Amino acid sequence: MTSEHVLICVAWPYANGPLHLGHVAGCYLPPDIQARFERALGNRVLMVSGSDEHGTPITVSAEQNGVSPQDIVDKYHTMNSQALLDLGCAWEPQVDPRGVEYGGALFNRTSDPRHKQMVQDNFTALLDAGLFEEKTMKQYYETNDDGTGRFLPDRYVEGVCPSCQEDGARGDQCDACGATYEAEELLQPRSKMNPTASIEVRDTEHLFYRLDAFQSALEHHASGQQKVWKSNVRAMTKQWLDMGLRPRAVTRDLAWGIPLPLEGEEWNGKCVYVWFEAVQGYSTCARIWADSVALQANHPDGGDAWKNWWNIAENGDVPRHLYFLGKDNIPFHTVIWPALILGLNHAKKGLTIADEVLLPGPGEMALETNVPAMEYLMLAGGQFSKSRKHAVWLPSFLERFDP
Ligand SMILES: [Zn+2]
Repeated sequence: MTSEHVLICVAWPYANGPLHLGHVAGCYLPPDIQARFERALGNRVLMVSGSDEHGTPITVSAEQNGVSPQDIVDKYHTMNSQALLDLGCAWEPQVDPRGVEYGGALFNRTSDPRHKQMVQDNFTALLDAGLFEEKTMKQYYETNDDGTGRFLPDRYVEGVCPSCQEDGARGDQCDACGATYEAEELLQPRSKMNPTASIEVRDTEHLFYRLDAFQSALEHHASGQQKVWKSNVRAMTKQWLDMGLRPRAVTRDLAWGIPLPLEGEEWNGKCVYVWFEAVQGYSTCARIWADSVALQANHPDGGDAWKNWWNIAENGDVPRHLYFLGKDNIPFHTVIWPALILGLNHAKKGLTIADEVLLPGPGEMALETNVPAMEYLMLAGGQFSKSRKHAVWLPSFLERFDP
């Protein structure tokens, strides 16, 4: 019997709070069951995930609590990785007991310097292939009394929603009515952290990933997945593709994140946009597992062991990639991440934006085999929610119930 390579990709929990039972039911138990099932079949399983540690929810939370963003992510990475182990999830041992060629698991974090380096290398490869375009955006800027100042990304600006007139709307989005808008359309804008500071709209340079270049290849891929995807995955992916893909910002005005591998004053104080780097964790985590765990355990392919789980073999065998996530993340896994994989394959071949984008072939990184996205778990008639603190938290659940 042949032993397939199966990559189990588990949604990366955001490190600004404890996991709750909604996360467990939606994202963390199903992949664990799948991994055990695949191992029982004799397959070679590598399971990857980790803490998503950058972005504005973490910096806002740090500023509100008077601590550093690093303090926040250290606290929740430790808490969440321990809670998953206490629950009995198979993140340890990191090497399969049948032998390292059968795989293993790694729960990593996006602040890992090796992840940062790989993301910067990928950023440069896509830039060199002409897959980014530069645009000038308008963004609020706050000036303090002492003359210092900073740009204010979305969550740092509050005001009155131009659509429903509700106060407390964010810089680019209203939680009350769901409207999205340009920064300068927000009414009575003010700095969330510093409401009395004077703020103004300023120009700021940003780079955008040319998602539009992948429209046709992704439509082709999606049409081949119609019998595989669940109805919610089919519907949400179709909605995105039907709207037409547009370039998406890969940089932002924020200091907490992966530094841009770019020279020039216009890039000071900016970092890689969190969506662009966190989703790459599925591949960087496999490479880091190979470089550390597999190498040490004498995998015959050493630091290249990850390719068994990521790349299409020369004989055409495709490793199976299963992504487990909540339904709000579907387009990231059926459109955006596949577009990045296609772009990285494209750039590696020395092709540019001028060349036709093709689906992966032998020696290239594979696209998803399936994205079994889960619906939300309900609690007392409402959705579990970390931001609204409507949840049963995993650490307190484990204190009361021994799994
Ligand atoms: Zn509104």
